[in-house]
Amino acid sequence: MIADTETLVCEDIKRRQQLGLAKYRTSVARNPLELRQWLQHAYEEALDQAIYMQRAMQQMDATCTGAGGCLKCAHEKRRNETYAEPGTAGGWGAA
Ligand SMILES: [Zn+2]
Repeated sequence: MIADTETLVCEDIKRRQQLGLAKYRTSVARNPLELRQWLQHAYEEALDQAIYMQRAMQQMDATCTGAGGCLKCAHEKRRNETYAEPGTAGGWGAA
């Protein structure tokens, strides 16, 4: 069974809070960074996130033979079905 996702995220946040306090000797709330610096940190982390996701997808896709049955083929099949008919809502979550 898959664990409760929100609970896992909350546990990770708590763990990161403890690591941050140990590393920076202050909480996020008490950290005196300027607003622009917070946004720069978030921006750089978003870039890192995109790189990590692309890397993981490359690894997943590397085993694809094009014969179907893998996650890449399933994704492409669903995407093609979603956008095949003009005038349909399309997008993620569309039936
Ligand atoms: Zn495949």
